[in-house]
Amino acid sequence: MKNDADMKTYALIGNPVTKSSSPFIHNYVFDFLDQNKTYIAHNVAKANLANSIKGIKALGYGGINVTIPYKIDVIEYLNDLDASAKKIGAVNTIKIVDGKLIGYNTDGIGFLDMLEENEVRLRGKKVLILGAGGAARAVAITLASSQISHLSIRNRTYEKADLLIEELIQANKDVVFTNASKRQNLREFDIVVNATAAGMFPHVEEVPIDLALTNENAILCDIVYKPHLTKFLKLGIEKGHKVIYGIEMLIAQALASQEIWQDIKIDKVAIKRNLLEKIELEL
Ligand code: NAP
Repeated sequence: MKNDADMKTYALIGNPVTKSSSPFIHNYVFDFLDQNKTYIAHNVAKANLANSIKGIKALGYGGINVTIPYKIDVIEYLNDLDASAKKIGAVNTIKIVDGKLIGYNTDGIGFLDMLEENEVRLRGKKVLILGAGGAARAVAITLASSQISHLSIRNRTYEKADLLIEELIQANKDVVFTNASKRQNLREFDIVVNATAAGMFPHVEEVPIDLALTNENAILCDIVYKPHLTKFLKLGIEKGHKVIYGIEMLIAQALASQEIWQDIKIDKVAIKRNLLEKIELEL
């Protein structure tokens, strides 16, 4: 990194983003690729969202990530959405092309990349998603077009799971979609994904589901990445489950953003392996 006037800036906008791991990941990628680019995090108040986007455009930033709570609010300031953002209805990545802002969503592809890297096959699988918020929605809509046979949503607020299920049923008739919010026998599921905020720092003692309900052969994925070893995964390991950590999705969605911004294919396996060694020290 030369850190001169030619240096291209990329950024994350959201609130709060002070503890985000995204600057570490993206700056690592720029260093790995030996590029004169940098990535910073901006805490943006809601009243400043429109002006922040204008400023980012005026200053010639290379690209932006968007996180909670602006993944939907930001859409009105964009010139276009690609298919991923249209399908999910939210944006986590903005590419700036000739002064035009194009919105993408890499959460779903990041989730799929994470499964693929862990050699999880989806054909015919029954998947349970815990949560019906923004991240659960991205994961559910993406999984709905995969080769799974059954997708269930279980959420603290039952009605929100119902709304998401209705939408999924409209999108794909080949998968069985159900609301598992009130069910107590969850042993049929092959993959259980925590897409709730339960267990996320500082609520580290929260567990999104009683693990007595799950089949020990199920793969548990937690998309919460702070802490690295959530209580959900810790209890799962103790019960004998194979587990996948949230940091893997965070890295995968970040690398997908990089490929969109830079229009390149990057060596994801090498970068991820190095990043995982480094980033765990940061947590
Ligand atoms: P969100 O839109 O606010 O949704 C939160 C979800 O969590 C809702 O379903 C909510 O249920 C549920 N929830 C919250 N607290 C709970 C608790 N104590 N017990 C049970 N359920 C609870 O948030 P989001 O954007 O979906 O993010 C969810 C999590 O995913 C966050 O921890 C975020 O950091 C993580 N995430 C990770 C990645 C990654 O790349 N690894 C990407 C995106 C998000 P109700 O509907 O009942 O309120």
